[in-house]
Amino acid sequence: MTENKAIIDPGWNFDNSYARLPETFFSRIEPTHVRSPKLIVLNDRLAASLGLNAEALRGSDGVAVFAGNRIPEGAAPLAQAYAGHQFGHFTMLGDGRALLLGEQITPDHTRVDIQLKGSGRTRYSRGGDGRAALGPMLREYIISEAMHALGIPTTRSLAVVTTGEEIIRETELPGAVLTRVAASHVRVGTFQYVANWGTVEELRTLADYTIQRHYPDAEAAENRYLALLQEVIKRQAALIAKWQLVGFIHGVMNTDNMALSGETIDYGPCAFMDAYDPATVFSSIDVHGRYAYGNQPSIAAWNLARLAEALLPLLHDDEDQAIQLAEDAISSFVDLFASHWLAGMRAKLGLFNEEPEDEALIKDLLVMMQKHRADYTNTFRALTFDKHEELAFNGTTEFVQWHELWQARRGRQREPQASSQQLMHSSNPALIPRNHRVEEALDAAVKQGGYSVMERLVQAISNPYAHSPEQAEYCTLPEPSNRPYRTFCGT
Ligand code: AMP
Ligand code: MG
Repeated sequence: MTENKAIIDPGWNFDNSYARLPETFFSRIEPTHVRSPKLIVLNDRLAASLGLNAEALRGSDGVAVFAGNRIPEGAAPLAQAYAGHQFGHFTMLGDGRALLLGEQITPDHTRVDIQLKGSGRTRYSRGGDGRAALGPMLREYIISEAMHALGIPTTRSLAVVTTGEEIIRETELPGAVLTRVAASHVRVGTFQYVANWGTVEELRTLADYTIQRHYPDAEAAENRYLALLQEVIKRQAALIAKWQLVGFIHGVMNTDNMALSGETIDYGPCAFMDAYDPATVFSSIDVHGRYAYGNQPSIAAWNLARLAEALLPLLHDDEDQAIQLAEDAISSFVDLFASHWLAGMRAKLGLFNEEPEDEALIKDLLVMMQKHRADYTNTFRALTFDKHEELAFNGTTEFVQWHELWQARRGRQREPQASSQQLMHSSNPALIPRNHRVEEALDAAVKQGGYSVMERLVQAISNPYAHSPEQAEYCTLPEPSNRPYRTFCGT
C-alpha cells in the first residue's frame, strides 16, 4: 500500500507560455522555502477537474509543492511584472508575494495559471515580506469558492497550507500560502506596465498573447486590438452586473486587480452587503468610499478607460482616431452594464418578458429596501417564497402598493406563476458568505486551529440556490454589535 502511494502521479501537466514572453514581463524566481508546511484545506473537486490526484497532493510531496518547497516537474516559476492605479494613483507593482508556477493543461485541454500567493519575496516586493497570513488566505478561499458557486466568473482556490512560520503584522500571525487557479493573471495593470515601460512591439506581443488565450475570435476582426478592448468591456460589464446582483463588494478595484479574462480576482477586503445601501463600504482603507457598492460600475468603466489608454498605440496609427475608437468603446460600457443588470433584476423578480416600466418597478423596490435598511439577500429570498412577514417593510402602504403592481406585472407574461417562482428560486441565492459567518470561521481557524466551522460554511455556500432546510441557519443576520463591519487589506 505504502509503495503504491509513493508512485501515485499527482497529475501536474505544465506548459509555460507566459515564460516564453519577453523577459521584461516577469522575473524568474525560486520560491523561498518554509519551515514546516501543513495542509489546511484542499479543494478535491477542483483538483479533479484540473486532472490532479487529490490523494497524491495530500502527501508530503504534494504539500511541499503548495508551500513552495518543491517545484513540480515541468513548472517554470516566475513573478509577473505589472503596474496599477491604486486608489487612483499610478504605481509600479508586480507580484510582490506571489509566483506563477506555470500553466496546468487540464484533461479538457484548458490552460489555467497555478499561482502561489504568499510564497516569499520577489524583485517586486518593495518593502513587503512576501508573505501572507492564514486568515486572509482562508478568506480568499471561502469567498472565491462562494462566488464560483453563485455562478460568477472568478479565480479559484485549490489549497491553503500553513508555513510553520510566524509573520509580523500588527501582531504575530501564522503564515500561509494559497494556491490560486486562474484563467490567467493578465491584468489591466499588466498592459499599463508594458505601455509605460515597454516598447510598442512588446505591447503588441502582450495583446496578441491575451487575444490568443482569452479572445481567439478577435483574431478574425478587422481591428483585432479594438475587438480585444470591446470584448474585455463586454465581459467586465457582465461581471460587474453579477457582483451588483448578489451584493458583492470587491473593496479594492485598483487596475491591477482587474483581470483581462473577466474573472473576479484578488480577494482582499471584499464582503457581501447585508442591508441594502449603495454607499456601503467595508474596507478600512477606503476612507472616501471610492469602491463603495454603488460606485463599482463607474469604477469598472474608469479602469477600462485606463486599459484603452494603454492600448492606444495599437488601436490606430493616427492618435486622434485611436482616441475616438477608445472613447466609443468605453462609452458602450454603461448600456452593456445596464442591460445585464436589468436582465438579472427581472429574473430576481420572476419576470421573463420585458416592459418599459420594469426599471421603475425595480428601483421602487430598492428605494424601499434602502429606506428600511432591508437585508439585500433575505429580501429577495422572502419575495421568492412569499414570506412577507420576514420583510423589513412588511405592512407598509408602499409595500402593499408595490406588491400589487408586481403581481399584476407577473400576470402580464405567458409563463405561469409557478415558472415565475422557479425563476426567482434559481436567481436569488438562499445564502451568501455573511461577514459574521466568515469571521467566525476564520477565528476558529486562526485562534484555535479548528477548521470544522470553515468546512461547514464552505459546504453550505457550495449550493447557494438550493434553499434547503440545512442552510437556514446561515441566512440569519448578525447581531447589531457586529455592525458596521470592517475588512482589512489582505496582507
Ligand atoms: P494586493 O493588495 O494583494 O492586491 O497587493 C497589492 C500589491 O502589493 C501587489 O503588487 C502585491 O504583490 C504587493 N504586496 C501585498 N502584500 C505584500 C507583501 N506582504 N509583501 C510584498 N508585496 C506585497
Ligand atoms: Mg492585487
